[in-house]
Amino acid sequence: MDVLQKHLKRAGHHVRSGLTTDGFENHVLVRAAREKVDPSDLAHGFHIKIVEDLASLGLVFDHFDDPAYGRNLQRFSNVSKALMGDLLAAGSLHFRAARLPVDDAVPAAMPREQRFCIGGWFGATCPACEASAGSFFCEHCGHHFEPEEALSPVSRRGRIVEWTDNISAFISISGNDRLRRAWEDAAIEACFLDIAKRYVARKGQQMRVTAPGLHGLAWNSRHCNTQQILFSYSSLLYAHSLYCGHKDTEGSGKPNPFSRESDAFLISATGIDNTIPMLVGVTGCALGQNSFRPFDRIFFNHFLRLNGSKFSTSRGHVIWAGEIARIPNISVDVLRVYLAEICPEETETDLVSVQLVDRYNAIFDSISAAVDRCTESINRVPALTGCYVDAAMMITLDRLYEKQCAAFSLDHLRVSQASRSVVEWIEYVGAAPDHQTAYTWLMGFSILAWPLMPRITQAVWYWLGHSGHPRAAWASRPSTERRGTVPRIDGSRLAAADIDRCLPGRIAA
Ligand SMILES: [Zn+2]
Repeated sequence: MDVLQKHLKRAGHHVRSGLTTDGFENHVLVRAAREKVDPSDLAHGFHIKIVEDLASLGLVFDHFDDPAYGRNLQRFSNVSKALMGDLLAAGSLHFRAARLPVDDAVPAAMPREQRFCIGGWFGATCPACEASAGSFFCEHCGHHFEPEEALSPVSRRGRIVEWTDNISAFISISGNDRLRRAWEDAAIEACFLDIAKRYVARKGQQMRVTAPGLHGLAWNSRHCNTQQILFSYSSLLYAHSLYCGHKDTEGSGKPNPFSRESDAFLISATGIDNTIPMLVGVTGCALGQNSFRPFDRIFFNHFLRLNGSKFSTSRGHVIWAGEIARIPNISVDVLRVYLAEICPEETETDLVSVQLVDRYNAIFDSISAAVDRCTESINRVPALTGCYVDAAMMITLDRLYEKQCAAFSLDHLRVSQASRSVVEWIEYVGAAPDHQTAYTWLMGFSILAWPLMPRITQAVWYWLGHSGHPRAAWASRPSTERRGTVPRIDGSRLAAADIDRCLPGRIAA
């Protein structure tokens, strides 16, 4: 998404970005109970680490909040209540008793909401594909199921002792094929569309939007027999987006970008395990009321493996990207190119440390040599005033830019192919470029590579006398001056041991 947003800014669009972490997610509660700490503090501690981690790769957002924490909570609660009120008023909510398991891990005297064995405490076999699954979802086939539909239910913290009726709110979308038409409008790719279609064929256009609980955004209705909180994978997930939109336009006089009167183009991205939450939960809540609207695009990724193994948070396989980014003398720009190239868009891909090192070094060597050759050539002329791009090279640059724009198509996004135009451009620098070739090459490089390699390209752009960030429409503007120090790619080559030190011991190659 960071690469895509830079592409759109480079093309002249006004782009705003927001991200949140979900401090109310049930697995937070599971871990907090195990470690006997306050769930909000636990989640917020991780939130801060995630902010730092992404920033170390140059991934920064206009807003990146923990809405469940501190003063943010009031805004989060307000947008959530507005959403639920609108869903209720539009007749999209149904109240239904679902049979939920109760286990013996919490004393019978404790509130009923704490005794339900749901979320991270519930293990089962998926009723659709019979893979081992848990909580409300199957990571293997993407199906979403209710505990009473699951096969071989077990408690992960004790023993299931009874099943009781609990009344929750469910969203139900009226009108044939409304979800399917919304997915088509959002250009959802076939593989993820199939998961959502299978769900609707099995269960209809409906999904849980509240669950019993005490830790979360409470939403009370006279229809319910326990306290309900918003479900992290439908109403709450959409509320996170509404929160970002609300925060972004506060005080600007503009409507929330999610409101029906806004002309913003709304783009989201998530992993394959969130297919049903996004395509049924979020899209359903967006269609089920009249104030807010659905995303215009939702991009999905498959999982990324690590040296052949599935990442598993339960086995401690959290990989802090920041640990890799903080390797002494690593080039974050080159690391970003590699991570973009293995983006799991069409299938699962594998981060293999020796392949990372080989590819990193190849990119580092070729791009730093090209940049150095061109900056040396330009340094030999006394001034850049009136330096124009070379017309023949501009034809090539246009072709490579168009090719890269096709990779960034919002109808068929392939971030993994974005580096191809940059790599091809290296062929056009030559062994001893004259200053016009050098100027044109650096200008083209800063535009083609900015989404992937923001540090070096921004430095080149500035050195050539241009302001702001690289923009495609400014490629032919003559330079006026040469500014600042000679730009060079940060860092140096990598060794496999540098990467392995950052990985969990059992996974290192
Ligand atoms: Zn399954």
